[in-house]
Amino acid sequence: MNEAGIDALLLAPATDLRYLTGFSGRQSDRLTCFLLTADEALLLYPNFEKAGINAELADMAECRAHIDGDDPFAILTSFIKDKIGRKVGGLIAVDNLMWSGNLLALQERLPKSRWLGASTILSPLRMLKDDEEYSLLKKAQVLAGQALGDLFKWGLEGRTEREAAAQLTEFCTRAALGRADWGPIVASGANGASPHHGASDKIIAKGDPVVIDFGGVYFGYQADMTRTPVIGRASDEFKEIYEIVLQANEAAFRAPRPGLPCEAVDAAARTVIQQAGYGEFFTHRLGHGIGLDIHEEPYMVKGNALPIAAGMSFSDEPGIYLPGKFGVRIEDILFMKDTGAERLTEFPHELREL
Ligand code: ZN
Ligand code: ZN
Repeated sequence: MNEAGIDALLLAPATDLRYLTGFSGRQSDRLTCFLLTADEALLLYPNFEKAGINAELADMAECRAHIDGDDPFAILTSFIKDKIGRKVGGLIAVDNLMWSGNLLALQERLPKSRWLGASTILSPLRMLKDDEEYSLLKKAQVLAGQALGDLFKWGLEGRTEREAAAQLTEFCTRAALGRADWGPIVASGANGASPHHGASDKIIAKGDPVVIDFGGVYFGYQADMTRTPVIGRASDEFKEIYEIVLQANEAAFRAPRPGLPCEAVDAAARTVIQQAGYGEFFTHRLGHGIGLDIHEEPYMVKGNALPIAAGMSFSDEPGIYLPGKFGVRIEDILFMKDTGAERLTEFPHELREL
C-alpha cells in the first residue's frame, strides 16, 4: 500500500478478506466492511454476525458492530476521514467484489477520495500460492475426481442432464466438497457444442458425448474439472476430435515455464487445434487462475504478457465445439513448479465409453 500510495484498503466480506484474515463472511444488505490503513484496521459488521469473527481478525482489527437503524456508512466514512485526513480524501483501494450500491454510497460521502481496484495490490499476492494453498487445491481436485468416478459408476444413460447434475453435486457433498456457486454443467449431444450450457431436461441417450464441467470447494479452495465421456460407442468423428483436444491439453501442460508469458500456454494448445483445422471451433481462452475464486488471475489468454511464476495455479481447458453435433472439453488444474507444471487433477484423460 505504501509503495502504491494507497491510504486505505476497503474490503467486502469476499475472497480478498478471507485471504488476508481468514474471515469468510457474506455480502448482504447489512454492511460488512473491512478497512485497513497504514496503522489501523476496522471491521464494521452487523451485530448479530459476531459469531463469525475469528480470533485472528479480532486480534488485528477493531471490530465495531452496527445495529438495524444505525447508519453504517456514516460510521465508516467518519473513521476514514479521521484516519486519512478530512481535506485530502486519500487514495482508497476497494474490493473488486464489493457491491456497487455500497461503493456508490461511500463515494457520495467521500467526494474528495480517489479510488482504485484492490486487485492492483492483492492479485500479485493471491496469484502465488504457498504450500498450504497448494495442498488444499490439490485435495480439492482429487476429491472432485472421486465424485466424477462415482457418477460414472452410477451411470448416465437414460437420466436427464439435470438429474445427472444433481447426482454429481450429491457425490461432491459425500466427498466432502462444499457446494460451488456455479454448475455443474452437464451438456449431452448437441448441447455440448455450447461451452456454458447448464443442465437441461434432455435425456442423455446412447451415443451422446457428455461434457461434464463441475467443481466444489475445499476449505475455501476451488475445484474445477471437465471430462467428456461418451454413452456407448464413440463415433469415429468424435474419436478424432477427442484426440485433438487431448493433444492440445497435453501441449498446454508441457508449455509453461517460469518467465514465459501466460499467452504462450494458450498458444501451445491453440496451435494444436488450429493445425488440425478446428481453430474456429475453439471459442474460448485456454484457462483461468484458480484459488479462493473459481476464476482469478492469471488468465491464460492471448494478449496476457504476464510472466508465469512458480506458485501459480490455473486451468488447462481446451475445447472444440461443433454446432449441431457435440462438444469436447478436457480440463485439468495445473500448478507451476520451478521446473514446469504439475497436474493437480489426477482423473484419467483417455476416452471413456460408459
Ligand atoms: Zn470448468
Ligand atoms: Zn475452468
